[in-house]
Amino acid sequence: MAKTDLFEAPDYYLLDELLSEEHKLIRASVRDWVKKEVSPIIEDYAQKAEFPKQLLKGLAEIGAFGPTIPVEYGGAGLDYMAYGIIMQEIERGDSGIRSTASVQGSLVMYPIYAYGSEEQKLKYLPKLASGELMGCFGLTEPDHGSDPGGMVTNIKDAGDHYVLNGAKMWISNSPFADIAIVWAKDESGKIRGLIVERGMEGFTTPETHNKWSLRASATGELVFDNVKVPKENILPNVSGLKGPLGCLNQARYGIAWGALGAAMDCYDTALRYSKERVQFGRPIGSFQLQQKKLAEMITEITKGQLLVWRLATLKNEGRATAAQISMAKRNSVEVAITIAREARQMLGGMGITGEYPIMRHMMNLESVITYEGTHDIHLLITGMDVTGENAFK
Ligand SMILES: Cc1cc2nc3c(=O)[nH]c(=O)nc-3n(C[C@H](O)[C@H](O)[C@H](O)COP(=O)(O)OP(=O)(O)OC[C@H]3O[C@@H](n4cnc5c(N)ncnc54)[C@H](O)[C@@H]3O)c2cc1C
Repeated sequence: MAKTDLFEAPDYYLLDELLSEEHKLIRASVRDWVKKEVSPIIEDYAQKAEFPKQLLKGLAEIGAFGPTIPVEYGGAGLDYMAYGIIMQEIERGDSGIRSTASVQGSLVMYPIYAYGSEEQKLKYLPKLASGELMGCFGLTEPDHGSDPGGMVTNIKDAGDHYVLNGAKMWISNSPFADIAIVWAKDESGKIRGLIVERGMEGFTTPETHNKWSLRASATGELVFDNVKVPKENILPNVSGLKGPLGCLNQARYGIAWGALGAAMDCYDTALRYSKERVQFGRPIGSFQLQQKKLAEMITEITKGQLLVWRLATLKNEGRATAAQISMAKRNSVEVAITIAREARQMLGGMGITGEYPIMRHMMNLESVITYEGTHDIHLLITGMDVTGENAFK
């Protein structure tokens, strides 16, 4: 059943005054698109555990694929504030749809743009920006998640091509992606990035089923059985873990904004419900315990908004550190997941149904708190940054 999206964004500290007219226009157009195209259908797709592929064209049109990639390569040439705002609005609709956009822009287009040859940029970027080609990012392996440096996927030099063997797991978009950015070790143990194309012999992408989270996002494996990858498909300008970590930085930045979008949707839904739902002859929003929940939610959202606004400013100036991005990703997801759980309770029994978006957000956020660096790993990154001591290796 199609749903009407009544979302009204909170702006408790008048943060709109810190945005340019262009940023507000971008936000309005993405918000409209989400209300029209995502909200009415997303619950059904999540229930069916199916990715709504028909959204790809619209995502490309609103500039969600590679917003910061320069126009000459098909990107939107926008700044990081705009990128964050786009991710916030999309995730307000659904974390799975934002995941698809994050992967395409930050984990597929960004490495080709930052580490690729001019030929690779011209060949792939415009088609990725328009959604004609979709990509995925293969870093995690069955036995190497938080510790990707231990990966066993490998390439061997075979003259004019490499032979790729190994497997990647938990790969967003893999079941339908046309290309995969794959991180593998060469014979000297250095991590290299490769562009692997669907159709290469020995390359398969089995889908992962039975997820209770990100159900409207397609997740799968990447399996490489003696895949011959032409040498021109290697990303020439990076080697080592800094390659994939540079991409993750971009994506984590987007999540820091995105998760707040999910938090805002839960808050807005709970606030509206609290004014309409009457118990003991009064709206439940008039009870102190419910007001406490709402007051804490808007406080945390507002603090999170200020954090990501400042992070965007630093990122635009090229001054945002990886540790600052870790802190913001961790904080926003924690804020969002706590708000989702509290908001769900405020809706009582209705909170567990698909009539409202809260339970879907709550389940989605269980993936968001784990991928792109787990909650605990980001905490340890902050700990390492302030003490100079690495507690996770
Ligand atoms: C829906 C979904 C989509 C994903 N999409 C992608 C994708 O597109 N591409 C991709 O490459 N990956 C993707 N991932 C993988 C994701 O990045 C990993 O799941 C994540 O990095 C954690 O790895 P893991 O699951 O192997 O957990 P593990 O690394 O096994 O961690 C298990 C637990 O141990 C903790 N832990 C690990 N090491 C330490 C330590 N040193 N100190 C303290 N605690 C520690 C972790 O915090 C965690 O709580 C996705 C995952 C999910 C769930």
